[in-house]
Amino acid sequence: MKLFRKRPYIPITPVPSSETDNQKPIVPEGLWEKCPNCQKTIYSKDLGAEKVCPHCGYNFRISAYERLGMIVDEGTFNEWNEVMPAENPLDFPGYDDKLKNAKEKTGLDEAVVTGVAFINKQKVALCVMDSNFIMASMGKVVGEKLTRTFERATAERLPVIVFTASGGARMQEGIMSLMQMAKVSVAVSNHSKAGLLYIAVLTDPTTGGVTASFAMQGDVILAETGATVGFAGKRVIEQTIKAKLPEGFQTAEKVLENGFIDKIVARKDLKKTLQHILGLHIPNAEAGDMQ
Ligand SMILES: [Zn+2]
Repeated sequence: MKLFRKRPYIPITPVPSSETDNQKPIVPEGLWEKCPNCQKTIYSKDLGAEKVCPHCGYNFRISAYERLGMIVDEGTFNEWNEVMPAENPLDFPGYDDKLKNAKEKTGLDEAVVTGVAFINKQKVALCVMDSNFIMASMGKVVGEKLTRTFERATAERLPVIVFTASGGARMQEGIMSLMQMAKVSVAVSNHSKAGLLYIAVLTDPTTGGVTASFAMQGDVILAETGATVGFAGKRVIEQTIKAKLPEGFQTAEKVLENGFIDKIVARKDLKKTLQHILGLHIPNAEAGDMQ
């Protein structure tokens, strides 16, 4: 029967890739974003200035300057030690290229931006780590910039706010990166002994040597919703202890439950919360400024 006869197909000769490239639809870059948490596609404008997923509330990772733009009074940021490029102290293979790429990608010299600004007219020293620069791992220069900020803030009697984000110590700098933990911690301690306020804000991800030092030394420790906060990676721990870790392990919420964090704050409320805490600690602050 002809009715069930196999339909003849017309053979199609493949088009050379150079021709197909020209036929691809043109989608302007950055128009759509995919949420890494709920996997939904979001129209970029719907993320808003705070870059938060409208579906699940996930905080997209932002650059240090974007963070400063959200937190400090407009036009008040004055950068400290802006030019302090990282080196390759151990001649680690491939590290020079990695640094070069990170610099080109971010326009930064290193993974932390430091300086002074006003938050609701309150002068404060700030360190903002940028996860776009080699996952904000802590090398010699990152440690040095943080240390200098704490030392200058101590001399000028300023509170310090550090936005932490880090994959941990930078392995390409070996022991020198590990030594930064002690160096920064001493500067934090001297700042504290001078009776000055230090607020740590843990953002996604805060791990490794940063968690094991200054991220956990804040007088007040805040965290952004859903941020990963931990020391060793989940997989490494599971392999070591040969057990499955519970759901939500190493999230800010779990760490809060265990008493290591004082408060989890939504990104949109962060500036208001910092203003409030700064206001509470500033002698002679006006009650109206504390709201
Ligand atoms: Zn989402």
